[in-house]
Amino acid sequence: MSSQVSEAAQQLVNSVERVAVVGAGTMGNGIAQVFAQAGYTVLIIDPFEGALDRARGTIENSLGRMVKKEKITAEAAETILSRITFEAGIEAAAGANWGIEAVPESEELKEKVISALDAQIVDGGVIASNTSSISITRLANYTGRPESFVGMHFMNPVPMMKLVEVIRGHKSSDTVVEATLELSRRLGKEPWEAQDYPGFVANRILAPMLNEAVYALMEGVATREAIDEVMKLGMGHPMGPLALADFIGLDVCLNILELLQTELGDPKYRPCPLLRRMVAAGDLGRKTGRGFYDYS
Ligand code: NAD
Repeated sequence: MSSQVSEAAQQLVNSVERVAVVGAGTMGNGIAQVFAQAGYTVLIIDPFEGALDRARGTIENSLGRMVKKEKITAEAAETILSRITFEAGIEAAAGANWGIEAVPESEELKEKVISALDAQIVDGGVIASNTSSISITRLANYTGRPESFVGMHFMNPVPMMKLVEVIRGHKSSDTVVEATLELSRRLGKEPWEAQDYPGFVANRILAPMLNEAVYALMEGVATREAIDEVMKLGMGHPMGPLALADFIGLDVCLNILELLQTELGDPKYRPCPLLRRMVAAGDLGRKTGRGFYDYS
């Protein structure tokens, strides 16, 4: 991948000091951690009771594992943690140069959070969304700076996964896209750019594959174990598709398929009836203790 970066993009990245991450859940705490590891001052903002304590605990555990594996020293772990401030109110983002929205996947909620973040981030600063599937072009309209709005789609678990899918909205400027790619590299990630079409690249390809695995199971092509092992042994996937769907959450998989089907208008994305039935039954995968496999 070429990492030729224009002077304007370089300057924009060099100006980043304070980063505000809104939403301290699965993704937000991982994003805060990787920015702090790269030396940035990070504010992580979440108004919900217990969310900040959970985020701090998750980050401490993750850094603790790195210390155990001798990837970092105990002092370095402390320094990294000291770079993160945990806050309940969005006003804490005042003066930050880079904002990242990582609240749940609801456009209504993201509209509120993104417009509130827009009022706090400095002029000339950038706002990114970690959305998995909502249009970056639409979300950009909730700010007064659509040219400085991009998608920064980190993968779960953020500290482990190298990829950042950088999504170029219809009005994102070249400088901002380039700066986002460069900033991701400074976090130790490998960013790849995608255009703003439903599901971007990752979910556009992953969701239909998972769906096809559920069809294969429903039609009795093979057992769940056989489907997963064929894809692991034959295709070199680290996890079988049914186990991966359980990990992601079957409700999340269903939402993404529905979005692809609606926004692309193509019936090839129709969710498998077995997936719908399992979601209706509340068997959502690991998070509920049961999906294609039993985790109880
Ligand atoms: P999550 O439910 O684990 O965390 C969301 C957090 O946002 C919660 O802590 C919640 O308290 C907080 N929140 C809710 N309303 C808020 C508000 N108004 N202001 C501030 N915080 C608020 O969700 P997640 O899995 O971290 O997903 C966040 C985003 O990342 C979603 O858009 C999702 O699609 C995307 N994403 C998720 C994954 C994944 O595997 N989990 C992967 C890539 C992208």
